[in-house]
Amino acid sequence: MPFYETQNIQIYNTLSGKKEVFKPIEPGYVGMYVCGPTVYSNVHLGNVRTFMSFDMVFRYLKHLGYKVRYVRNITDAGHLENDADVGEDKITKKARLEQIEPMEVVQRYTVDFHNILNTFNFLPPSIEPTATGHIIEQIELIKSIIDNGYAYVVNGSVYFDVHKFNESYEYGILSKRKLEELIHNTRALDGQSDKKNPQDFALWKRAEPQHIMRWPSPWSDGFPGWHLECTAMSTKYLGDNFDIHGGGMDLKFPHHECEIAQSQASKNQSPVNYWMHANMLHLNGQRMSKSTGNTVNPAELLSGNNSFFSKAYAPSVIRFFNAQSSYRSVLDLTDDGLLASEKGFHRLMDAIHLLDELEAGDTSTFDVQKWRQLCYDAMNDDFNSPILIAHLFEASKQINQVKTGTATLTKTDIALLKTTMHDFTFDVLGLEDQVSSDSGTDKLSGAVELLIKLRQEARANKDFALSDKIRDELAAKGIQLKDGKDGTTFSVN
Ligand code: AMP
Ligand code: ZN
Repeated sequence: MPFYETQNIQIYNTLSGKKEVFKPIEPGYVGMYVCGPTVYSNVHLGNVRTFMSFDMVFRYLKHLGYKVRYVRNITDAGHLENDADVGEDKITKKARLEQIEPMEVVQRYTVDFHNILNTFNFLPPSIEPTATGHIIEQIELIKSIIDNGYAYVVNGSVYFDVHKFNESYEYGILSKRKLEELIHNTRALDGQSDKKNPQDFALWKRAEPQHIMRWPSPWSDGFPGWHLECTAMSTKYLGDNFDIHGGGMDLKFPHHECEIAQSQASKNQSPVNYWMHANMLHLNGQRMSKSTGNTVNPAELLSGNNSFFSKAYAPSVIRFFNAQSSYRSVLDLTDDGLLASEKGFHRLMDAIHLLDELEAGDTSTFDVQKWRQLCYDAMNDDFNSPILIAHLFEASKQINQVKTGTATLTKTDIALLKTTMHDFTFDVLGLEDQVSSDSGTDKLSGAVELLIKLRQEARANKDFALSDKIRDELAAKGIQLKDGKDGTTFSVN
């Protein structure tokens, strides 16, 4: 039996509002689509968090043995400044401001995006399609939506007729909104728009003469609406009905709602079985967002060159920090939180290093098989990484106890513990054994941690004179050791 069949994954599906048993359409294969970045500026850490959560999902599914086709697009056209189909195209605007070609903007920020993801040890998706590379597919989609009577043409632009659609289908099914409420909550059109109703959305926009990004179409020289590219690319590579679609919570409405509508209107098919939404990263209690300027760039956090944080953090510490909360919870990025994660991360790495030094006993005082399944259970429960990390810490405690002689493990159990720790820490969570670039602070921590370890060994050997000497001499240099139930910590005066 394939390994994935021994594990029972449950995914929280936004569509049903509950956790559901995950059953791929094709046994053994998973199709997953995640909305990628709009490449008009450097990605901020909030963007990275969403992609990191789906990188973990991708990694876990692969770890279980599924053949995963993971498609994550690059939005390089069609994303207007405002969701209501007004304002300039974000990429065109940047090109105009910087007086460069739009494709130069796209190239610059796509390269930046890839560099950042490499730094954070992301696995590349199977396919990374671009909106501009799929104009033909988008035009074909619009044709079929028009043919089916769910879109209309005005002045060279094409709009999706939400009211007509809602007569046969349910617009708002994903975000749990009712069309009547939407009508009530949107302002009437000011006469400037070609739309029949404010709820309608653009499938194709006629380009104004100054608009540089334009393609010929049966309706006008223009460009596609933002929602359309994801329907065109996801269904092209994954089929009209596929397993998982992900993105940030903020994309639920209107973006994903419109994707569902487009698929139903063109193919009479609901496109996605499991809709997954990652929650937002906050900074100073507010959502991290490009538009409000409340952002920190990954490079600033990694170099320590920013006004928010006391030091630089290693990419794996940030990954660890992210995995310490569920992908469905809001996460507040704070210095205290990062410092705590850094400590936890080092504790985990230390335990993993110790695994190579353990001496096998005749019996085991810790049930490694049972613990291993608990790790899988955590991830099977909607990718609950904080619970997984709690289990990894429990194993770290056991490893330390075996090292100090207060617990024992057989050779087989040590081997199983080692494989499982490595699998989850490196393959599933995507962590790397690394320290931050803030090398001064880290070297000091490393040296003190080493002395703490030597002191532990001295105490285990009942050499209390040496252990006291280490403590007292560190104290004389302003470094206080504090013994607690989870081990020894230190502070610098
Ligand atoms: P964009 O480049 O604006 O299309 O966004 C790329 C991805 O980042 C989308 O999935 C967004 O939902 C996500 N995103 C944007 N802001 C945040 C945030 N503060 N926290 C988490 N994800 C975010
Ligand atoms: Zn999308």
